[in-house]
Amino acid sequence: MGGPFARSPREHSDEPLPGFKLAYPMLAADGASCGFSGVTLGRAHVYRAVDDAICAHGSRHACPSRWCDCGFYCFHEMGAARDLACEPDHRSAVLLEVAASGRYRRYERGLRYARQRVKTVRIGRCDCGRPAELLADSGAGSVGWRRLLPVCRNCAADRPVLRPERFAELAGGVQVVLEGSPTGLGDPPADPTAAAPAAAAPAAPAEDPGTVALLSAEIAVLHARLDETLVRLEEVQARLDELTRRDRP
Ligand SMILES: [Zn+2]
Ligand SMILES: [Zn+2]
Repeated sequence: MGGPFARSPREHSDEPLPGFKLAYPMLAADGASCGFSGVTLGRAHVYRAVDDAICAHGSRHACPSRWCDCGFYCFHEMGAARDLACEPDHRSAVLLEVAASGRYRRYERGLRYARQRVKTVRIGRCDCGRPAELLADSGAGSVGWRRLLPVCRNCAADRPVLRPERFAELAGGVQVVLEGSPTGLGDPPADPTAAAPAAAAPAAPAEDPGTVALLSAEIAVLHARLDETLVRLEEVQARLDELTRRDRP
């Protein structure tokens, strides 16, 4: 069968392609397995360390489809994922190093693809800014899954936690790295009450202009993708109109 769907260019890779992305670490309600959930599209869906994409909108088409935004996403560069992690909404996410395979489509800064293997999970900082060493229950989640929160030992206090080695095991043998995500911030002063006056301390600017520029670029990319989606929607609508007109007696 012909039609516009058959004409859409596709790419396929049997060789795994490296990529980087953010995700929330998840623990199954029965505590027997771990997985990941997306930070933007498909937030409600939990995927395993090795998994195939399904349509986030409940369609039964193969992912990724030209006509839909579903599928796994990754960046080509680890830096792009780290930049996204600076956004307040994503600060509790972990950074994944993945191998993408199967059908894929390119976008400006990465790939959208069908099959994924999570190789490495990089755990960054606790909300308080200290390097995170444990995973605690965040209080958020989806049906059957609790979302885990990277925390430092101080903030974990006596909360129930999952150790990173256990997460690695329950996720099916991924590598977990505690990296404390370098932020460029230094050690705290030995005595906070004796901190030097602000004028005498040339500290890092509160708003890193580089981060602002990168987030602005990210917004521009999202706008471009939205425009592209609207153009496609019009194309499909026009084709549908044409077909329904033709079928009319
Ligand atoms: Zn879809
Ligand atoms: Zn902390």
